[in-house]
Amino acid sequence: MRETLATGVSGAVLGGAALIPLGLGVPGAVVGGLNGLVSGARGVYDWNRPTGWAAFVLDSTWGLIGTGAALGVHALQRTRHDRGTYRSDLSERQNRHVYDTGVTVRKHFAMTVGNTVTNLGGRRDLLERHEMVHVWQARLFGPIFPLLYGAWTAFGALAGTAAWIRRRDGLQRNVDTFAYYHNPFEYWAYRRQGYWPAGRPYPRYARRGHQHREGAGGAELDKNGSV
Ligand SMILES: [Zn+2]
Repeated sequence: MRETLATGVSGAVLGGAALIPLGLGVPGAVVGGLNGLVSGARGVYDWNRPTGWAAFVLDSTWGLIGTGAALGVHALQRTRHDRGTYRSDLSERQNRHVYDTGVTVRKHFAMTVGNTVTNLGGRRDLLERHEMVHVWQARLFGPIFPLLYGAWTAFGALAGTAAWIRRRDGLQRNVDTFAYYHNPFEYWAYRRQGYWPAGRPYPRYARRGHQHREGAGGAELDKNGSV
């Protein structure tokens, strides 16, 4: 209870202060405060380590866009019959909110929004080595992260469509390769995961890299994907 109040109030102060220069002090305080309340109640920040403090301060300031989007995810999860199956064992003092089911952009794919991971399905390795890269990308790149990620996805989809028009051999696969797998933020996360080339990109476009997981089936590997 004390932690909930403390993180709620400090999150509001940090968020408000961060966005006052933009004339958005109130929305900043609301997002920072709500994240503080939810995260404090769940005890997600690890106050014994500098990374826990950095996570809280970044979530409440530079990373507010991702944090605000994560609040939307929490709200959506509550509307589900299973409430998204929150994993406190994977979240408490680990600087993240983890759900086993819930909102995702693609079946079987885990999704990371700000400090929140959904649809994990118990895949610990994916969480630690891929999704956590995205959690910290959102914190470190702040407002630039959704901009760059979104712009890459849009232009990658165009490039993939153009490649498909030239060759007419699998629109989805062409678009996936350019828009998703070659997105630098995904490339970074998949390399960290030790899983590259990821998915089923066209070999001619795949960047060079060591493949550590040869032998696993292509269809299975697709399920290791994430956003
Ligand atoms: Zn990813």
